[in-house]
Amino acid sequence: MNVYEEIGLKRVVNASGRMTILGVSTLSDEVAQAAIAGGQSYVVIEDLIDKAGEIISRYTGGEDSCVTSSASAAICLTIAGLITKGNKVLMDRLPNSDGLANEIVIQKGHSVHYGAPMPTMIRLGGGVPVEAGTANEVVPEDIEGAITDKTVALFYVKSHHCVQKGMVSLEVMRDIAHRHGLPLMVDAAAEEDFRKYIALGADLVVYSGAKALEATTSGFVTGKKQYIDWVKKQYHGIGRPMKIGKEGIMGLLKALERYENKDHEKEVRENREKVRYLCEEIGKIPGLKAQEIQDEAGRAIYRARVTLDPAVEIGCTMEEINRQLREGNPSIYARTEFLNLGKIDFDPRPMVEGDKELIVKRLKEIIGG
Ligand SMILES: *Cc1c(COP(=O)(O)O)cnc(C)c1O
Repeated sequence: MNVYEEIGLKRVVNASGRMTILGVSTLSDEVAQAAIAGGQSYVVIEDLIDKAGEIISRYTGGEDSCVTSSASAAICLTIAGLITKGNKVLMDRLPNSDGLANEIVIQKGHSVHYGAPMPTMIRLGGGVPVEAGTANEVVPEDIEGAITDKTVALFYVKSHHCVQKGMVSLEVMRDIAHRHGLPLMVDAAAEEDFRKYIALGADLVVYSGAKALEATTSGFVTGKKQYIDWVKKQYHGIGRPMKIGKEGIMGLLKALERYENKDHEKEVRENREKVRYLCEEIGKIPGLKAQEIQDEAGRAIYRARVTLDPAVEIGCTMEEINRQLREGNPSIYARTEFLNLGKIDFDPRPMVEGDKELIVKRLKEIIGG
């Protein structure tokens, strides 16, 4: 029995991904130990935040970094920092930023719902989202046209949640931002490369701690020192309800160290092996088809996509199958982004020993009767 079953909750098979609704990821013993040790001593938090920023920057190539409670918090605090420039009087006024330069230009196809609406995170930091272009087409002129004397930053979102076609590239956004003397902010919350966007010339890049890094619940923003100084100051203002504890910070630092030393190719191979098993076994179930697909955002993530076989009548929709997967015990969560198109995807990354067999067994039960 796991601790959640002990308090009367169902066990969950996470075949969905690094999902907030399921607890994102699990902690390795090393990361858990670092969090425990961090929680058992006192420290001057301001010094810890500075030191953590220094350490994070070694892994990102940023001039400095600010640790946060989540990527969402990093977005809010970065925007609050850019609007107030660390000025105490302005900081004390937030989230009211009336009359200040407070506009954040974002492509319409990037203004997504990632589990919460992006415009909400921008507003929470005192920003006013200005969406450029249309949902499926944005051209450089749309970005230029959205910039006013109240613009404080351009914001690029790198995510599978975004519209992938018809958008302006990060490099073009960067050049437009810099031509106007504005910073380019990048949300790379779920990305796996912690150096790439700084190396490409982004001024501020936001990451989530519990996704690729499998850290304690946390996040950070990395980039130019001046901006990071302004972000850190927000902990004395709007950032207070978003504070991260010392244990969360120490867990994140350990996870960064582990991530750097991990054999990522081996992990991808092992995950593809699980996908191959799932495709083969699910493919044998009458009425179902399964194939390996790659992540829409181009990351080295492979998943087993399951659809109904139109040649075999099983009298059951994919919605119904998904409902039964979730309602069983343990509760099985597949990815459902394309459920409206009759597809569910099994993500091998969060699966633990025995999960793939359980998924196949449960699907057979559902289809069988
Ligand atoms: C997950 C995600 C976030 C939020 O990350 P949290 O750490 O959960 O706040 C923000 N943006 C994108 C694109 C995401 O995928």
